[in-house]
Amino acid sequence: MVVRFKRYEADKEINKFYKTYKWVKKRKEALIRDNFECQECKRQGRFRHADCVHHIKELKQYPELALDINNLTSLCNRCHNLIHEKHLKTSKPKFTNEERW
Ligand SMILES: [Zn+2]
Ligand SMILES: [Zn+2]
Repeated sequence: MVVRFKRYEADKEINKFYKTYKWVKKRKEALIRDNFECQECKRQGRFRHADCVHHIKELKQYPELALDINNLTSLCNRCHNLIHEKHLKTSKPKFTNEERW
């Protein structure tokens, strides 16, 4: 119960973070740096428009890197889902919008 509650609180904090002006600005900065291209597709020699900005080191574990542009990478939804599936082997998160994670 306690753990679940804490987890819920953490998610709430993260959702709040994604609505902050600081994040919106930093997110844009990362997208511009990456030319609005998915960096994972680019690595594989394909072009795809970036749909979201991903935290390389997870926000929950490294809150101090939340606004560090070196910790951000632009991804399309497909690559983003794949990356998180790799990270979280037990659950398969579905990203319904870009403001998650
Ligand atoms: Zn991609
Ligand atoms: Zn992510």
